[in-house]
Amino acid sequence: LAEKAWASRDQHATTRDGHRMEICANLGETAKAVEAVEAGAEGVGLLRTEFVFMAQSSAPGLEAQIAEYKKAIDALDGRPLVARTLDVGGDKPLPYWPVPKEENPFLGVRGIRLCMQKPELLETQLRALLTAAGDQPIRIMFPMVADWSEWRWAKDMFDKVQAEVQAKDVQVGIMVEVPSAALNAQVFAEEADFFSIGTNDLTQYTLAVDRGNGELASLSDGLNPAVLRLIKMTVDAAHAKGKWVGVCGELGSDPKALPLLVGLGVDELSVSLKRVPMVKAQVRDWSLSACQQLAEQALLASDANAVRALVGEAK
Ligand code: PEP
Ligand code: MG
Repeated sequence: LAEKAWASRDQHATTRDGHRMEICANLGETAKAVEAVEAGAEGVGLLRTEFVFMAQSSAPGLEAQIAEYKKAIDALDGRPLVARTLDVGGDKPLPYWPVPKEENPFLGVRGIRLCMQKPELLETQLRALLTAAGDQPIRIMFPMVADWSEWRWAKDMFDKVQAEVQAKDVQVGIMVEVPSAALNAQVFAEEADFFSIGTNDLTQYTLAVDRGNGELASLSDGLNPAVLRLIKMTVDAAHAKGKWVGVCGELGSDPKALPLLVGLGVDELSVSLKRVPMVKAQVRDWSLSACQQLAEQALLASDANAVRALVGEAK
């Protein structure tokens, strides 16, 4: 099966009844963009840019960042790059950026909240991303947006930089990984060009389960109907405004989740690059109508195990 998937990796991921999904790769370093394209990825759906900031003992400058992002943009050769701006926090401090120790770092100053304390850091990153893109497609998204004020601040910063740089093909979006962002998606969809659902954190915050706590691993399941409902709210709100939605968390490469994400109307899946050929092959094995039926049933299920059983019966 893996061989067959690899052989067809450059074909589109289209369901039996003709519904096309976009399949992209998650990257933690720009050097891997070449491999992503080789694996059949239609773009990079999540570039975790932390590596640019963690690799050294001082903040990376504009030119160094431009050179780094250009590696991915050049390798993608016209395919879109979705870059997430710096997402560090109390549990992952930067050596050159001391932050006070927090009781609950996952609920503390992380993601976009941390950038709000060092605006010049985000400003330089945005300038580097937009400059590196030039006339190639770039999508920029902000991590851990929970409140309108955070989006407002980040979007204003983006608008200011874009007015100067004027990248040609750019969209600006929000990572939906805090339940409030999904619950308020209707409002965010007025302004954001797209959403990308980070199911790792969305699951953690919806179920109050630390994503790194192995003891709670069985509870930490993104197929919990509560998480699926938040995904549905996000998709419905986005589509009502003509915006697109991706999923960039681990759930996207779970074969049991795949038909549900398709059925809920997710437009793009971004998975680790090794999984790209298989996810494309799996999409081809379902029909949209079957996926939609399954999704409807899953939303009414009692828990994640019931959802998994449902999908198991259907295949
Ligand atoms: C997520 O939270 O699902 C996500 C994609 O971001 P990260 O895993 O980097 O927190
Ligand atoms: Mg996250």
